[in-house]
Amino acid sequence: MLAQVRAMLAVLDRRWPGAARRLRPHPIVEMASWPEIRLRLVDEHIGSRGCAVSGSYHPELTPPTLLVGRSLSHRRRAFTALHELGHHLQQTDVDLGERTFEASNPLRFQEKACDAFAAEVLLPDAELARPGLTARDIVAAYESSAASREACCVWASRHIRGTVALLDASGTVLFASGRGISGSPLVRAALRSRGPVSDSTGDAAWCDGYLIAVLRVGSSA
Ligand SMILES: [Zn+2]
Repeated sequence: MLAQVRAMLAVLDRRWPGAARRLRPHPIVEMASWPEIRLRLVDEHIGSRGCAVSGSYHPELTPPTLLVGRSLSHRRRAFTALHELGHHLQQTDVDLGERTFEASNPLRFQEKACDAFAAEVLLPDAELARPGLTARDIVAAYESSAASREACCVWASRHIRGTVALLDASGTVLFASGRGISGSPLVRAALRSRGPVSDSTGDAAWCDGYLIAVLRVGSSA
């Protein structure tokens, strides 16, 4: 899967040089400027054709057309548009297509590659991953991309030895990659102060009214 995503990024860069960097904050604006494809926001329910996201890809139209649900949030729309771009790349590049058909379940493989491609464009490991990622880094990744808060936290949890959590302002845990969040003095202090907090156990930072906390391994129950 990783090899396919790398190959997709290479095809992307060959066709639209430097596009990945522009897609990251504004995928829909960027794709709308490409004459080779058409991106349409649509009201009606879409998402048939095996797409788990609320979008679809139509290679039979000229130019090939990507439909994305208008009712989605700005960030869901961005992910969906990139997912559908993943279908376009895999269905219009011979090598990418061949790799798809080598998989035991080509449709499933292509679908998963689309998700992985969208995630990698929004949150590129090579650029963002580093040892000692903090909650502030996660907020910065959110602010510099069209990735959702949840996606940023899930992504960061793969690179942090410890727990990454997303809470609402009342302290309800919306996502946690491990335990020890609710009772954490760090999280309680951040909820009380409504500002960024850090101590020897980790750090917490606010992100559009939500709290992101990182508790390093060995620092909590
Ligand atoms: Zn799909």
